[in-house]
Amino acid sequence: MSPEPSGADEAARKAELAANLARVEERIESACVAAGRKREDVTLIVVTKTYPASDVRLLAGLGVRNVAENRDQEAAPKAAACADAPLTWHFVGQLQTNKARSVAGYADRVHSVDRARLVTALSGAAVRAEREIGCLIQVAFDAESGSVGERGGVAPDGVTDLAEAVTAAQGLRLDGVMTVAPLTGPLAGQPEAAFERLREISTSLRAAHPAATMVSAGMSADLEEAVRAGATHVRVGSAVLGQRPRLR
Ligand SMILES: *Cc1c(COP(=O)(O)O)cnc(C)c1O
Repeated sequence: MSPEPSGADEAARKAELAANLARVEERIESACVAAGRKREDVTLIVVTKTYPASDVRLLAGLGVRNVAENRDQEAAPKAAACADAPLTWHFVGQLQTNKARSVAGYADRVHSVDRARLVTALSGAAVRAEREIGCLIQVAFDAESGSVGERGGVAPDGVTDLAEAVTAAQGLRLDGVMTVAPLTGPLAGQPEAAFERLREISTSLRAAHPAATMVSAGMSADLEEAVRAGATHVRVGSAVLGQRPRLR
């Protein structure tokens, strides 16, 4: 992670983040108006991966309350460096079971729950940390039935069983569902269709689990489609922080 920036650099970066945030806020607001939804029904989560803790602190100062990370190695020290900021930390990346203990130390919500073994690992970690972790089932619309997709996520027909596993697990709370627009399969290039399917899955999930209201969908490129399709949480990175080097 880069060293703390100087005062002038920090002021310039803060102004840049404020301008980007304002643009994203405007996009969410317009999408809500167009969809006949209330602005407060959509929560912005800023994805801070690859950007330093100093940016996270600036965002907190600009009123951001929800941030997300996708790699534990990067997230753990960043969350520690921002422990005094009033932030909710979301974990949105593929998660190995041996990282569950670390993630349970700082993440309030894990959006990428996609297999029973991970539920077991997170549950053990949450109990040990004496914390409750909110879980979202990540749905992959390009995964084969009964398997986990390449970028994480369970096939739609696996959601019910996994939701039951989360509900039965100590230390975990079932909060909802999440998806990333698929790059392959029949819904590739059709984010809105994927997000609508996610909402249908959410609707049937809520019949059995009424508290599982979160629908996490939409990123910088497709947040309008997500809002239109009923997302309650959008995960926006590059539109707020700037283009990342194309590593991930
Ligand atoms: C990086 C990431 C985002 C944000 O993507 P942008 O295109 O930068 O907005 C959202 N969700 C997940 C799971 C991510 O890994």
